[in-house]
Amino acid sequence: MDENRGLTDAIGRQFEYLRLSLTDVCNFRCTYCLPEGYRKVHGRSHPLSIAETIRAVRAFARLGLWKVRLTGGEPTLRSDFTQIARAIAAVPGIRQLAMTTNGYRLAEYARAWRDAGISTINISVDSLDPARFAAITGHDRLAEVLRGVSAAQAAGFDSVKLNAVLMRGVNDDELVAMIDFVAAHDLSLRFIEVMRTNDNVAFFGKRHLAGTAVVDQLKAAGWQRLPRLPGAGPAVEYAHPAAKGRIGIIAPYSPDFCASCNRLRLSSEGKLHLCLFGDGGIDLRPLLQGDDENALVAQIVKLTATKAPAHRLHMGDSGATPHLASIGG
Ligand code: SAM
Repeated sequence: MDENRGLTDAIGRQFEYLRLSLTDVCNFRCTYCLPEGYRKVHGRSHPLSIAETIRAVRAFARLGLWKVRLTGGEPTLRSDFTQIARAIAAVPGIRQLAMTTNGYRLAEYARAWRDAGISTINISVDSLDPARFAAITGHDRLAEVLRGVSAAQAAGFDSVKLNAVLMRGVNDDELVAMIDFVAAHDLSLRFIEVMRTNDNVAFFGKRHLAGTAVVDQLKAAGWQRLPRLPGAGPAVEYAHPAAKGRIGIIAPYSPDFCASCNRLRLSSEGKLHLCLFGDGGIDLRPLLQGDDENALVAQIVKLTATKAPAHRLHMGDSGATPHLASIGG
């Protein structure tokens, strides 16, 4: 903790951004994440209640975190999703509430979520080909998800962004089509390198594709790299004079990836994860169930100071992470 800079770790990184998983349950079966579908390993899932969630967000906000992303699992599977969003948006100090979704309820709820105070939304779309989309996710719902994307644009979110996981031999022949699609529809797009987790080792070996594969195609189409802004996330961003949206590349295997880390994660059961690929989370739930906010704040400060300087993904070490849905990708 640094009085002037808020929550910091031992090497001076400043934390402004909380990724909050609302559930580890997901209804999609993405080949790189939950190919067999969701299965709870240790009995039923017990996600944080709204009251526990708000205690957590208030504590992080006291420490200067101002951006919260709702993720999962599939966060919109929570029947109280809109209520949670509204409550978080009202926490003093929270200036931006974001969400990440597979989009399956988006066409119906985009306006309600915008009205609840969510201002930016990321939607996972790994292919624009309906059959491929179905093969990747286990759901033949591309048209429905794209209707949701249009509904989100109509609902007036500050940013509507697509996430696409890059997969060799699966969707790498679609990169130009995706770039053209988002430019034509005033959307932004993030290409994400597939990350190795403990459950997808063989898949990763076969399908991992470095983000540099996209860079050449972007440059050829006239996209230009933007300078990195202070406090920006891990994506390297590109802009085009004829396109409103931006295209970003998230390349966790690039050498400097962790140097700009500005985020912490809270799992749906109240574990603080200092890194997506760390050694398991640290349980904050007992503190989230009490009303000693000072103790909760002190614990977060103490734990954050111990954050490792970098993950060890490039050494084939994914920490304790079975798949990203378990922590909140
Ligand atoms: N269910 C929501 C969704 O589909 O966007 C939110 C949770 S999901 C875990 C968040 C993001 O993580 C999605 O864009 C998904 O594609 C990405 N993701 C999951 N596993 C991944 C992996 N092993 N490597 C890279 N991205 C992954």
